[in-house]
Amino acid sequence: MNTLNMRQLRDMFLFVARRVIEREDFLTEIDLKLGDGDHGFGMALGFKAVKEALEGKEFETVENLFQEVGMTLLDTMGGASGVLFGTMFISGIVGIEPHQKADLPLLAGIYRRSLEALKRRGKAQVGDKTMVDAFEPAVIGLEQAVANSEDLPKGLAMAAECAKKGMMHTRDCVAKFGRAKSYGTKALGLQDAGATSVWIIFQAMSDWASESKESE
Ligand code: ADP
Ligand code: MG
Repeated sequence: MNTLNMRQLRDMFLFVARRVIEREDFLTEIDLKLGDGDHGFGMALGFKAVKEALEGKEFETVENLFQEVGMTLLDTMGGASGVLFGTMFISGIVGIEPHQKADLPLLAGIYRRSLEALKRRGKAQVGDKTMVDAFEPAVIGLEQAVANSEDLPKGLAMAAECAKKGMMHTRDCVAKFGRAKSYGTKALGLQDAGATSVWIIFQAMSDWASESKESE
């Protein structure tokens, strides 16, 4: 499996949405330790709306689908994290030609552009204990998979593994942004909620692709 048609891409994001919704309590627990505990609720709210926006709908292009996911998150989640997670899906497709299928190089390119936009907007770098700590390694994982001509399930598995390592590494970092910043070194040992969400998203994409490959 190397390319996803529009139905498959939609189904993959529906699977992602279900996973994020299922992990609401887990995300709440993490954000309670370092923030205000609203991250699980916000993510679940956003992805419940994504599920509704995607279910039974046909999308003509990859870009339309990413736009729908990102705009829905932006509109429903609200606040800073709505902008950040909206950016994760919207900013990568701005100005690119429409595609009717998604392959690994296209996904790697989209997420690279989103990552750069997110870093410009939020000013966070790797090591600042934010979602960037999981997102940047995930993008690098995708790019390595492209360079090694891996198939799509393998590429997404590499991205998920790198995102997980990045998420775990946030435990060793002191926060420079958001509410966690006020915790100073008390934040050591605790992982970042946004990075955890990014890992859940990439892990879900990977699991969907591996399961779909098996049933081919
Ligand atoms: P809030 O901070 O408004 O309570 P959430 O709890 O939903 O919002 O999201 C917090 C997450 O947002 C953090 O865990 C972190 O990953 C991410 N975040 C916060 N500030 C930034 C930033 N400047 N750049 C990137 N990500 C950020
Ligand atoms: Mg919060």
